[in-house]
Amino acid sequence: MQCRNCGRELPGGNFCPWCGAHQTERRESHVARRPHIYAANPSEHVLHPSIVSTLFPHLGPRRMVQVRWLLFVGIIALVIISLGRLVPLAIVLSALLLPVLYLFYFYDAELYGDEPFAVLGGTFLAGAILGGAMTLLFYRLILSQSRFGFGPTPSYVLLVGVLLPIIAQVLMLVGPVALYITRRQFDDVLDGLAFGAAAGLGFSATQSIANAWYIISGSFQQSGSISAWVLPTVKIALLIPLLDACTTGLICAALWLRRDRQPEERTRGAITNLAAAIVIGLLGQILPALLSALWGGPWLDLLWYGAAVLILLLLVRTLLHIGLIDKARPLRAGDTEQCPQCYHPLKGTESFCPYCGLALRAIPRRARSPHAGQEPSGQEPSGA
Ligand SMILES: [Zn+2]
Ligand SMILES: [Zn+2]
Repeated sequence: MQCRNCGRELPGGNFCPWCGAHQTERRESHVARRPHIYAANPSEHVLHPSIVSTLFPHLGPRRMVQVRWLLFVGIIALVIISLGRLVPLAIVLSALLLPVLYLFYFYDAELYGDEPFAVLGGTFLAGAILGGAMTLLFYRLILSQSRFGFGPTPSYVLLVGVLLPIIAQVLMLVGPVALYITRRQFDDVLDGLAFGAAAGLGFSATQSIANAWYIISGSFQQSGSISAWVLPTVKIALLIPLLDACTTGLICAALWLRRDRQPEERTRGAITNLAAAIVIGLLGQILPALLSALWGGPWLDLLWYGAAVLILLLLVRTLLHIGLIDKARPLRAGDTEQCPQCYHPLKGTESFCPYCGLALRAIPRRARSPHAGQEPSGQEPSGA
């Protein structure tokens, strides 16, 4: 039996272990890129709007369910806290929910390899410091430009809707780009996504906390309606961090794809182009901020930011999927004996599980060495 895409001899199974092509698919156009089987989680379509399998692609099926529950329970708890009018507590916890989950993910999947301090410093910490600094620098300027009650002035709209989102996006990229330049051993599209997302999450966390501090300690009048704090809580806990994680993750994933050592076997789509990713990332920051500045309000904010996050999540998934398939790379021999998705035995030389189609690079580094103390046998740098 030969692969319908690359022509190599197949050992059996539904997927080509080297190029990932779906052998039993009827539609010829779906064989090579198999858009109905997401490379990092074969039970989902590429365009399935899932937060966890997009930004936490290294998690196995069981961990994915656990993180989904943690996120769900966290959001419900935050809504209850904000309903109880414990505003400062709700904001601080909201700002920390996703970053803390992501730190857990970094630890669980050993994403930092053997350099935890450099990676955490270049991602979470750099993002957090720059996010806080930017808010401290610009808050008075924003306040001086806004005219409550008379509609937004053009200079306010330009500042809040265009200039600040661009500055924010540039600052979020500082840490990951420094890592890109100084740490060549991280050469995987999944590393780029994780580093970008972590920098975005650190940035949005301190920005939200610093912003909220000004609002609470300032002359802000708290109104009595339920939407007064529940909706901003959802925005601070989910939408802003996800937006920052997606735009920065998208740009970094495209950047890291350029470093991938594997030879190009296929023409990658436009989405994997770095310039396109930068334009999309900037638009993703500018459009919701601009629309909110022009037509704001708690419900409309939710709509603008929610729509932007949804579109960006799908774009990140598409980029990741194409990157994982076109830059297929086998694990080292003996790295893993069993597919974490379908539990089928593996030889350890495949790029994809031949039975469920999982891209094996999405296996956490921690899970790659089943034999404790075994020496690495290949040349590929490993974090274990
Ligand atoms: Zn093939
Ligand atoms: Zn499998």
